[in-house]
Amino acid sequence: MTTSRSSGLKVAIVGCGHGQLDAIYASLEVECLTKGWALSDLDFLVICGDFQAIRNQLDLNCMSVPQRYRKMGDFHKYYSGAAQAPVLTLVIGGNHEASNYLFELYHGGWLAPNIYYLGAAGLVRYGPWRIAGISGIYNRRSYHKPHGERLPYDRDDVKSVYHVRDYDIQRLLLLRNPVDISLSHDWPAWVELFGDHKDLYTTKPHFFASALVDNLGSKPSTDLLNHMHPTYWFSGHMHTRFAASVDFEAGSGMEDALQRLEDVPEKLRAILPQTFSSTRTSSTASKTEFLALDKVGSPTSQWLEVRSLGEHPHNANLETPYVEKTEAGKFHLHYDEEWLAITRACAPALRIADPETLVVKPSNKKRVVSAASVDKQKMWVRENIVREGLLKIPFNFVPHAPPHNPGFIVAPNQQPPEYPNQQTADLYGLLQIPNPFTLSLERAEDTGAAGVIFG
Ligand SMILES: [Zn+2]
Repeated sequence: MTTSRSSGLKVAIVGCGHGQLDAIYASLEVECLTKGWALSDLDFLVICGDFQAIRNQLDLNCMSVPQRYRKMGDFHKYYSGAAQAPVLTLVIGGNHEASNYLFELYHGGWLAPNIYYLGAAGLVRYGPWRIAGISGIYNRRSYHKPHGERLPYDRDDVKSVYHVRDYDIQRLLLLRNPVDISLSHDWPAWVELFGDHKDLYTTKPHFFASALVDNLGSKPSTDLLNHMHPTYWFSGHMHTRFAASVDFEAGSGMEDALQRLEDVPEKLRAILPQTFSSTRTSSTASKTEFLALDKVGSPTSQWLEVRSLGEHPHNANLETPYVEKTEAGKFHLHYDEEWLAITRACAPALRIADPETLVVKPSNKKRVVSAASVDKQKMWVRENIVREGLLKIPFNFVPHAPPHNPGFIVAPNQQPPEYPNQQTADLYGLLQIPNPFTLSLERAEDTGAAGVIFG
């Protein structure tokens, strides 16, 4: 184990992945070369949703895309071991996903070796860097609903399963320690006003039309931006490259930052919000650099960004226990102490469909939990996980769904069985709380998953 410091972080960012991993890694190698870097110099790649972790033809039927546009893509090769991700790849979900697979890994996990999904909401540590993500896209009608979708998905489930839920946003709003990098698929609402919005609205008039009816971007993500003030925020979804910079003055948040902008179109200014639900103001000024990227297939400069993020802005001295490195000299991915405490504190309020009855139990809990109960859980995490040396994310990936077989014919919209994911079970084991994702043997047999060997 080495703990020496590397000189700054080298990362790559992709907007939407659209299942084209081969093209992504090939272009990445070329981009690194033009910078005088080797691919192995990169710390990690992030893909901001529409990743499409499709393992086989049945997964493809869980993706919200018309039948004629459904494509297997490249991921199945990385899942079966036929191909290897050459760089640590961190992903969130978008609105075109194998949603059944992402749901198995609700709290995040390895989708394939070297490809880590952050979960419906999540935060991981890469050395001192804290990387947070929210998966899916905002939809007002689904926002306050529980995660009620469970296989087999009907026509409505296939869509609502990727809608962002209040529960996941509230958990991220409980974070109090600084976040360095934040990822979302759809853009935070109004973020375009902090960049060249004139050009954007001219070249994409439908963006302006949506903004005028208060329907552009995700408002919950803006709440997160306003709460976290992360140094970087990366997004995909809108299929265009766009940069912006949000300046937060000391002691003030998003509403002030918006009001200070001088060139906002009058029609838009009239509908800007005056207040935000959660502002964690800081005593010093801060800035969030926002970058949205296009999908694979457009010119490379539009969808791929390779850059150095320099030294870590907050933690001048590296704190253990996050600094352990791999044999390749890169930081090990770690769970984050604060995020584990939040996950544990909020676990009783997670509402998913019961695997036996497919019914979501009613709940009258309005808010997830208080900051005080997170503090209590922090002590538990320190005692039972940090002190035990269990913060390192284990490489516990096991392929448990059948690999892609081109000869296997499935009916249109035929649904896969539900596969209980051992990584999710392991995480609940680590937190020492019951796993609500568990299937009974009978139910697993009903859905056809029984007989599959796990690990
Ligand atoms: Zn996309």
